[in-house]
Amino acid sequence: MTAQKMEFKTEVKQLLDLMIHSLYSHKEIFLRELISNASDAIDKARYEALTNGNILEGDGDWKIRITADKSAGTLTVSDNGIGMTKDEIVQALGTIAHSGTKEFLTMLKEKDMKDNPELIGQFGVGFYSSFMIADKVTVITRKAGKDGQGVRWESTADGSFTIEDAEKNTKGTEVILHLKDDDKKYLEEWEIRSVVRKYSDYIEHPVVMDIEREEDSTIDKGKKVKTTTEETLNSRKAIWLRNKSEVTDEEYAEFYKHISHDFTAPLKTIHFKAEGTSEFTALLYLPSKAPFNILYKDYKLGPVLYVKRVQIMDNCEELIPPYLRFVKGVVDSSDLPLNVSREILQANKQVEIIKKNITKQVLDTLRTLKDNEYDKYLGFYKEFGRIVKEGIHFDFSRKEQIADLLLFPSTKTGRDTFTTLQKYIEGMKDGQEDIYYITGATYEEALKSPYLEAFNEKDYEVLIMLDEVDDIIMSSLEYKGKKLKSAGRGDIKLDKAEEKEREQAKKKYEKIIDLMKEQLKEDVKDVRLSSRLKDSACCLVADEGDLDPHMEKILKAMGQEVPAQKRILEINPAHPLFGAMNALFEKDGKSPLLHEYTQMLFDQAALLEGSKPKDPAAFARSVAKLMVENAQRVAS
Ligand code: ADP
Repeated sequence: MTAQKMEFKTEVKQLLDLMIHSLYSHKEIFLRELISNASDAIDKARYEALTNGNILEGDGDWKIRITADKSAGTLTVSDNGIGMTKDEIVQALGTIAHSGTKEFLTMLKEKDMKDNPELIGQFGVGFYSSFMIADKVTVITRKAGKDGQGVRWESTADGSFTIEDAEKNTKGTEVILHLKDDDKKYLEEWEIRSVVRKYSDYIEHPVVMDIEREEDSTIDKGKKVKTTTEETLNSRKAIWLRNKSEVTDEEYAEFYKHISHDFTAPLKTIHFKAEGTSEFTALLYLPSKAPFNILYKDYKLGPVLYVKRVQIMDNCEELIPPYLRFVKGVVDSSDLPLNVSREILQANKQVEIIKKNITKQVLDTLRTLKDNEYDKYLGFYKEFGRIVKEGIHFDFSRKEQIADLLLFPSTKTGRDTFTTLQKYIEGMKDGQEDIYYITGATYEEALKSPYLEAFNEKDYEVLIMLDEVDDIIMSSLEYKGKKLKSAGRGDIKLDKAEEKEREQAKKKYEKIIDLMKEQLKEDVKDVRLSSRLKDSACCLVADEGDLDPHMEKILKAMGQEVPAQKRILEINPAHPLFGAMNALFEKDGKSPLLHEYTQMLFDQAALLEGSKPKDPAAFARSVAKLMVENAQRVAS
């Protein structure tokens, strides 16, 4: 068969381009990535042998081999792992399978990547990093267990690759890098040794290289002979099984990069051993930066699962609740069976115990971080706070513990400082019963809301919630016996004394209110006097149990069907406008002006809410008419 030429998908071309231009000062990591891939491939082959009872040739002698050929200028990384079929390699090395890739790459392009290697690191560096040091890469691979054919893949990163059948006698993969002239140093033994030590020391499988030496001949005295010995370059110690005191921060960080494909060091490392009802060791990490696809459905969550040092699964989602899905790491259990399957995991008691234990450790670590290293915590919270919050909705038993981790700006903190629910409660005024919040797209927008008028007058603090999920999550929260209430929803009663006045006003204005209700019955659920307004004449509020107005807007913007929800029009009885309208009403209940002003009142309320008047042209006409009348009156 002759070689078949195929085009890379656009995303691959873009990624290659970015990688070559942004990571050039971190070239050596290509070797870490290839060794990682080789190690994963061996884990897969071993797991296959273990679970399906497949006897694979070379079992037990798992190895990653590095070969430097100075005369050919090539560096080869080979493994005896799972290998790939033709279809698999076309898919694996010709496309990128994450959703959100396009958006992410566009975002990267807009930023100056040269100063931001960690951004592309967020994406996962991977196989393509080979092209930083090689102008041509050849991959020869054969799938384990197939008696079939080897495949040869080759590319010069010019937008395409070739694929053809190839001879390969053993299973596994060889990646042959044809080094660029400037990068020939990676053929030197000492360079390879130092890069492997630095980045891949903890890899469980041996990374070997044939080392040639000249030695004194034992037969022919005075003569030198060449000897070749296979040396293992990595210490192979499973890092999570070592004592905490023996592992350096750098070693922890390198291991994190291996399992997470992240480029940046982790924010925090959690390493512990559990004994008793369940025996396991966990090495977990809180990343510094959120992976670009953490909010997508196909984001893979969960630590790598080992059973007695044997890797069983890449992402074991049964071990961690989704609201902690940013946690990366390794869990090594002594209790689970080696041939554990997904079905067993889902119903296993040990798994449940491990999950509980991990959840507790992570939440405790976050709590300590918040209390003792607030700046670091703030960094964490900005990346992952939105995700932790989901726990309030989904983890009933730890609601309050999670609520204690939340940070919010408030009407009293300023935009960039934060308070907590605990601090909020400590600052509550006498007579204040609930915790109040308002949602908005920005701090400034929320702060300007008319819903806050009465709260400001009473000097009540109101939490400002800017995350899309906030309203759904917070409205169901009760913290230390206090309810969280949206300032923009339901009937707010802040002051008992004022209630009496309101009752009186209600009676006084009953008739005009009825008239307004009748006129606006298509548009609003109710018209009532307000307790939340102090300066504004009117506002629209959501009924108790309805969607928060901000949330409704977000859902609509996302193209979701939102059932038509009528608002309640609240009127400020203390505002002179209302007094004037009532006077007009008492004089002539049928005046057409009343009709026009009622409509204008409703339109104003819509504007205050950030919506449009129902008929903007009619509204503009009415305003213009009023201006003309007023100007003529002043001028005459
Ligand atoms: P990642 O490892 O993050 O998935 P890569 O770009 O490094 O991304 O690799 C893409 C895919 O190619 C891998 O997921 C794997 O399926 C396949 N692959 C890469 N190297 C090997 C290898 N040595 N053996 C088998 N498959 C491999």
